[in-house]
Amino acid sequence: MSEPIKVGDLVMIVRSGTQCRCASIGASNGTVFSVADINYTALLCLACRFEWGPVWCALDKSDGLRAELFRLKLIPPLGELEGADSWEELNTPVLL
Ligand SMILES: [Zn+2]
Repeated sequence: MSEPIKVGDLVMIVRSGTQCRCASIGASNGTVFSVADINYTALLCLACRFEWGPVWCALDKSDGLRAELFRLKLIPPLGELEGADSWEELNTPVLL
């Protein structure tokens, strides 16, 4: 199991909302955002008015984006990405 998502994390939406056939709460797969808040809230599909939840959601306050936590994948901080060490080695000046 991956680490829990928390405020300040960078996340990407990797699953579709499945509560109704037209469910898309303004966010599509592949969208990346920084979590500004997490809350437990009911959701309403703006297209068909289907209501469900409450569920745990992550919010991006800058554009009002909201997505259920189960749809999100945590993007690790750059320093922890695989290959960071070798990248550093590549950029180390070579003394001739
Ligand atoms: Zn709907």
